[in-house]
Amino acid sequence: MAKVILVTPDYHCGVVESAGKWPNLAFVYLAGHLRKAGHEVKIYDAMSKDHNLTQIMEHIKSFEPDVVATTAYTASFPAALEILKETKKYDQDLITVIGGSHVTFEYDVTLSENDYVDYIVRYEGEETFPALLEALAEKQELKTVKGIAFREKDQIIATDQRAFIPNLDNLIPAWDLVDWKDYTFFVYPGSSLAIVSTSRGCMHDCKFCSQQKFWQRSWRARSVESITSEIKYLVKKYKIDVFFISDEYPTSDRERWESMLDKLIEMDLGCVFLMETRVDDILRDEDIMGKYLKAGIIHIYVGIEATDQETLNRFNKGIEADDSKRALDIIHSAGIVTETSFVLGGPEETYESIQKTLAMAKKYNPDFGHFLLLAPWPYADMYDDLKGHIESYDYSKYNLVEPVIKPDAMTTEELFEQVLKCYKSFYYDKIPEWANLEDGFKKDYALHSMRAIMDNSFLKEHVLKFGTMPKMVEDILKDLAGEKVS
Ligand code: SF4
Repeated sequence: MAKVILVTPDYHCGVVESAGKWPNLAFVYLAGHLRKAGHEVKIYDAMSKDHNLTQIMEHIKSFEPDVVATTAYTASFPAALEILKETKKYDQDLITVIGGSHVTFEYDVTLSENDYVDYIVRYEGEETFPALLEALAEKQELKTVKGIAFREKDQIIATDQRAFIPNLDNLIPAWDLVDWKDYTFFVYPGSSLAIVSTSRGCMHDCKFCSQQKFWQRSWRARSVESITSEIKYLVKKYKIDVFFISDEYPTSDRERWESMLDKLIEMDLGCVFLMETRVDDILRDEDIMGKYLKAGIIHIYVGIEATDQETLNRFNKGIEADDSKRALDIIHSAGIVTETSFVLGGPEETYESIQKTLAMAKKYNPDFGHFLLLAPWPYADMYDDLKGHIESYDYSKYNLVEPVIKPDAMTTEELFEQVLKCYKSFYYDKIPEWANLEDGFKKDYALHSMRAIMDNSFLKEHVLKFGTMPKMVEDILKDLAGEKVS
């Protein structure tokens, strides 16, 4: 038996943190499977606790682990490495492990450049991580463990990929190891926030997306019984009232999805859900959008990314430009909050094309719009098209808000300034619109969300640069910030 600590990297960029704090779901499952294999496990969510590296090391030392494991997507990769580096400085004998999307693809360079990383768990970890620990304990040949990468003498070895777990209902979550007091949805002060997964993967092929690569364009789903009983358990046991559905693509199978909505309606648990899905599924589900709301779904993010057909085709998005507006209208008509993002900052971006996107964003009129910058993930299908324009190889900036690709027509600083102008223009229109809304739920939700964005997102540092704002917007923002309105 080993003592294993699972640590999230202390990475913050003001993107995901703006809505709330939620547990690391991958760790919840990993912990469940490691514990079943006989190990003692601690989930330590340093990111949600806002702990710095010194505090992280204090926690690691006090747990006295045998194994320190972390996870990373590309932007959090440098912070994850720091944890493993400090761990080895503290005690060379501790075993260091890292998993997640970035190292799954970049295992070779990760192991060659960072000798303090012992093992990489690639793709799904629930079966692979316990198998790795068993092989180490039994001194078995590591090459027989599927799904890992490691150094052997001067060589980097990557073993065969492990097959994805066929039945997701067999996953074992360790919800009892979650420090629930850390998690809340900022829009509803005092709420308890959980994240659940109803399916894994996506069979689509968007060129900028790392998810379809990680899941190799496969899609598996849990049964309605399994997911709804888990939701009920979390509501009853931990008083969870807000759920994020983590799936990239929960609605792929309409029959399963509608059955899930029916079951949630029947259970009437009094909790709400935030989710994302594809534009084409919203069009497909127009006739059951009322069920979405009745089941508790209050907020849907749809990936639009681009408003012109040429860019959508280049991204391989598989949707028609006109469909996006229709999908937003359908969600909106059902009384559900709409959110989407528009991707800017490709090599061919110009001042004119940004203005065009902004005008279309206003026309599409989602409740929340994000103007995100293209990030050149080193393993993405678009990488070759982008690599000649990359200005920074500091992965911590690959977070969709910091510009790392230089368009031909402007500098990265000018690009960032344009992005801020898009936010300013979009929300200066939105804020008075929200204030005048008659729909009590939406008005309240939108204004509280704006407050959360102002308090927690990367925009917080830049609001002052927006310059003079209309008096009405200034008053609403002051009111939201709890300041006296003149
Ligand atoms: S639909 Fe979403 S998850 Fe699927 S490939 Fe496209 S961006 Fe990725």
